[in-house]
Amino acid sequence: MLIHEYQGKQIFAKAGLPTPRGEVAATPDEARQVAERLGGRVVVKAQVHAGGRGKAGGVKLAATPAEAAQKAGEILGMKIKGLTVEKVLVEEAIDIQQEFYLSIILDRSSNGNLVMFSPMGGMDIEAVAVEHPDMLFKRVVHSHLGLQPYDARALAYGVREMAPEARKALIGIIQTLDKAYRQNDCTLAEINPLVLLKDGRLVAADAKVILDDNALFRHPELQAMQEIAEEDPIERKAHAEGLAYVRLGGDVGIIGNGAGLVMTSLDMVSRAGGRPANFLDIGGGARAEVVKKSVMTVLSDPNVKGIFFNIFGGITRGDEVAKGIVAALSDIDTKVPMVIRLAGTREAEGRAILAQSGLTAAETMLEGAEKIVALIGRKS
Ligand code: GDP
Ligand code: MN
Repeated sequence: MLIHEYQGKQIFAKAGLPTPRGEVAATPDEARQVAERLGGRVVVKAQVHAGGRGKAGGVKLAATPAEAAQKAGEILGMKIKGLTVEKVLVEEAIDIQQEFYLSIILDRSSNGNLVMFSPMGGMDIEAVAVEHPDMLFKRVVHSHLGLQPYDARALAYGVREMAPEARKALIGIIQTLDKAYRQNDCTLAEINPLVLLKDGRLVAADAKVILDDNALFRHPELQAMQEIAEEDPIERKAHAEGLAYVRLGGDVGIIGNGAGLVMTSLDMVSRAGGRPANFLDIGGGARAEVVKKSVMTVLSDPNVKGIFFNIFGGITRGDEVAKGIVAALSDIDTKVPMVIRLAGTREAEGRAILAQSGLTAAETMLEGAEKIVALIGRKS
């Protein structure tokens, strides 16, 4: 579960990490009141589940409470990476001397937690990794032993020139972030930028935190941070209709019955050179109503250029499944090509029904995947 910056900062502050003083506001007037309470210059920051807010115009400085209200008015309602800004964080502005990058991420490939530090903060860390790999310092932390003081020190020496007090504070922050990460069952805790202020203090100016969904039951106080409102709009609608749908980035829509079968379908489409647009498990059987809702959901993603059905006829017989699909499709007006792989009980009868309706049927998964990729007309 990805949470907002202000929520991440609440977790950080509770663990003892220095964060700027600030409060959330949902209206320009609330932003003005927060700015009045803080006194002095403030920064108004869009709270959306997306990075790169600074570049998108979602982070603005304001010298007075009136200006804070005005900037909040500009930022509230704006769209960043397709997400509408519904809240802003109003914080005391900080005098930045230098920006660092610090993160801890669950790293499956090293069976541990990877701590990354870079003296090149504020910018996109992927860019740092590509353009300045020598400026990105990493330590894999042993899952049982945790971060050791020498790990923190080794990372903190990634900055060559630094006042001894600041370096000491940096080492402390790396250790405290590790503590916060483990205590809250995070899979990511990122501070970009971690700012060295002109007065020599270090503060977390940004916070990106992902909590492990499987551990949320242990943290009732964190469960309340969930906000369904900002999920992908197609996913939100699909979940409201009871569909197990996950949007992916590609252009081949995928519908199957059974999670394992759908996952294999994703692999088959990739193997055939295509890119899956979604995961959609319609569960047992394939009643016309569910098939129809599923197709409509998949088609509401504008990237989708074709749909691959992968259906296994078990208790629900293949011919019934085929009838359900034909009934559903006769109700939907679309030119998007579709391929249906039907196997299991009464598969031959099922495929005959599909063929009668002019639908493209396939016997094996790979054949079906190759057919849909070919119909889309190009390998993506
Ligand atoms: P992001 O672009 O979504 O990662 O948002 P950030 O919170 O990282 O803000 C973007 C940039 O705003 C930072 O890298 C800072 O350089 C800049 N910035 C300028 N003044 C301030 C300030 O007072 N507070 C904060 N948080 N950022 C500031
Ligand atoms: Mn940032």
